[in-house]
Amino acid sequence: MSHIPVYRGRLAPTPSGHLHLGHARTFWIAHERARERGGQLILRNEDLDRNRCKPEFVRDMIEDLRWFGFGWDEGPEIGGPFAPYSQSERLASYIETWRQLHHTGLIYPSLHSRLDVQAALIAPHDDLAEPLFPPELRPPQGAGSECTQPGEVNWRFRAPDGRTIVFYDDRLGEVCRTAGVDFGDFLIWRKDGSPSYELAVVADDHAMQISEVARGEDLLTSTARQLLLYEALGWQPPEFYHCPLIRDEAGARLAKRTAALSLRSLRQQGRTPEDIRQLPPFATQPFTVRHY
Ligand code: GLU
Repeated sequence: MSHIPVYRGRLAPTPSGHLHLGHARTFWIAHERARERGGQLILRNEDLDRNRCKPEFVRDMIEDLRWFGFGWDEGPEIGGPFAPYSQSERLASYIETWRQLHHTGLIYPSLHSRLDVQAALIAPHDDLAEPLFPPELRPPQGAGSECTQPGEVNWRFRAPDGRTIVFYDDRLGEVCRTAGVDFGDFLIWRKDGSPSYELAVVADDHAMQISEVARGEDLLTSTARQLLLYEALGWQPPEFYHCPLIRDEAGARLAKRTAALSLRSLRQQGRTPEDIRQLPPFATQPFTVRHY
């Protein structure tokens, strides 16, 4: 019997505000890729940040996505074989992933305060979204090997300085990111007891058998970090498709606080999903938002 691989994609919104056009477009691309391939799509509620994510945003997010015309096969409100689909309910699986990473010796507890880190940062990394973690603040190899649980400290992954991670993106082709240049030691676990974004998303994409991750191109460097986690864990990574971002007229990325461009307010202004799909960000290149 031949094994026919099933396409499994995901929509992974963070409910920290209302969805805007940028999300709608990225998600629409993910949705279309799954549908074109006769695949399955899951909705994952990425609500790990307890300070920013609110239950009313989860409710509104599901309503806005449905209004726009999205459909999914598994999700927080419908369940499915890989439930739960809200990250806040998946802590046990993240701790297990932390254990596996800890076992590799590639992660360490990072006892430095934010102030220590800032003081040690070297200036010339302005072009990076996030400054590199200063290598001189790394503890010696083996630090934290006696720990049996993450405890109340931050944990970081030791970036393999100088190594270039090369991966294939189905829109951009070959993408390269170099450890120690494009990113440094990155967060795995937070001292507040929650996993980092990188750990959670890799644990979930693996557990939910996602075959392709379609996400915004602002996450290209994160993809390189995540590939290091797949490698450390001995897991097969998914394929990747990074979507272009929508920018406003000044070239800035749309943020959730651009309330006027939220799906909710466009709907209140009388727009229909069909109208929105005709707006320049959906219909034309470059993806610039004008005032509607
Ligand atoms: N939840 C993330 C976000 O809203 C996306 C994660 C991903 O696609 O990996 O930006």
